[in-house]
Amino acid sequence: MTTQLQTVHLSEADFERWEQGVLTPEQIERLLAHTASCGCCGDAWFAHMSRTGEMLEEPPAYLADEILQRVRQPDVVIAQKAHTTSKRMQLFLYSLKVSMALAASIYMIFTMDTATLELIMNIFHL
Ligand SMILES: [Zn+2]
Repeated sequence: MTTQLQTVHLSEADFERWEQGVLTPEQIERLLAHTASCGCCGDAWFAHMSRTGEMLEEPPAYLADEILQRVRQPDVVIAQKAHTTSKRMQLFLYSLKVSMALAASIYMIFTMDTATLELIMNIFHL
């Protein structure tokens, strides 16, 4: 990046100097102004940031082992088991409610007197 920044497109070297923090405040201002107004350089800068950013996003190799070890520890296993059990209990209680509602409906049909049954059949045109 030189004094002709406004007329010349930015290069990879300009982006690298920006990353290294060796640009003056005036150069930084011109770099930002140029990338904001020039689509070509804006895309190039984004591509540059994406390439260099990938290295930073890479997690450390030991992290996967640490996570796996932590997941196998008793307190985590117990918490996981409790969560699974409570899901099963919720399903059981739901099934119980549905069964009770069904049983109550069947009971009501069989205990209904004929007058009420005829009234309902007339309402529903059965
Ligand atoms: Zn440009």
